[in-house]
Amino acid sequence: MANIDRVFNFSAGPSMLPLEVLNRAAAEITNYGGSGMSVMEMSHRSKAFQKIFDDTQAKFRRLMNIPDNYKILFMQGGASQQFSMVPLNLMGKTGKADYADTGNFANLALKEAKKYGEVHVAASSKDRNHVYIPTQEELVLSPDASYFHYCANNTICGTEWQYVPETGDVPLVCDMSSNIMSRPVDVSKFGLIYAGAQKNLAPAGLTIVIIRDDLPLYPFPYTPVMMDYQTIIKGDSMYNTPPCWCIYILGLVCDWVDAQGGVPGIEVIKAKKAKMLYDVLDASKLFHCPAEPGSRSDMNVTFRSGNEELDDLFVKEATAAGLTTLKGHRNVGGMRASIYNAVPVEGVERLCDFIQTFEKNH
Ligand SMILES: *Cc1c(COP(=O)(O)O)cnc(C)c1O
Repeated sequence: MANIDRVFNFSAGPSMLPLEVLNRAAAEITNYGGSGMSVMEMSHRSKAFQKIFDDTQAKFRRLMNIPDNYKILFMQGGASQQFSMVPLNLMGKTGKADYADTGNFANLALKEAKKYGEVHVAASSKDRNHVYIPTQEELVLSPDASYFHYCANNTICGTEWQYVPETGDVPLVCDMSSNIMSRPVDVSKFGLIYAGAQKNLAPAGLTIVIIRDDLPLYPFPYTPVMMDYQTIIKGDSMYNTPPCWCIYILGLVCDWVDAQGGVPGIEVIKAKKAKMLYDVLDASKLFHCPAEPGSRSDMNVTFRSGNEELDDLFVKEATAAGLTTLKGHRNVGGMRASIYNAVPVEGVERLCDFIQTFEKNH
């Protein structure tokens, strides 16, 4: 299939999906597997859809190496809904929780949790505009916290935790929305992992929750039924209609990840892409990266010239060259190249060339 009209899209989310996945979905869009209907039109209680659902879960479990004592939940509401659901189900244990404040989404999660209990800021990078990740030694942990929450990759600031915090008996809860499946993760270290799908996994509308099956749950009497993990667990993610289409696409993305050598294969490719881009930026006299080395994200690369007009011109000229959605988040300005799994190496090479040419011309 010819796809000469595709651009390299560096959007922070929703973001690129692998071309192979889009082509396969297109080929099956009116008649899935001889069913005579689209996956979008299928009853979620049908045999055909149940098979898609089960296969997708199995593939996801295998690729992420998720142990058998963890449930995988397919939900809606986005990662933002998890900001509420986590305290609504876990805070009741001691009425307290530890949060690491390392950026925009980490802070939103923290603010939401304050409605339901006492939040202790176990670490913060606010003093330097969230350009770094605190070290294990800098974490101030509460032994009586119901859980410790952190955001593994800070999508807006462009920083990423390079280690999994040690919190003893306090369960780890992690927002992995923007780096899930980009590197192997030891799931057994976590009580709960969640991720909105629209960065690395599938279209917007699907939220994945990975939860240890003996993680003690303490829903409040007022925790809404749809925000109670027990409801979703008991209903096998089908208490109500799940995001069927997104689940199907996740299955196709899993096949694609498999073809890249699984998550270890993806890790090699993503490290190569990120290094290529950071090397060009570090060598540049015009641009600089605010994120500190050692804390930099391999998914969201932020950079700027220090001159707003020049940044705007960069974004404009890049767009004209087929390199789109490079404008930084409105909170921080500058540029941001989100180089999620589906952004091809060629796209990053083209961006590197473009940066170097732009610098020569300006
Ligand atoms: C995008 C993002 C969110 C918000 O996700 P929604 O699905 O839009 O609610 C939360 N956390 C992180 C780390 C993100 O990248």
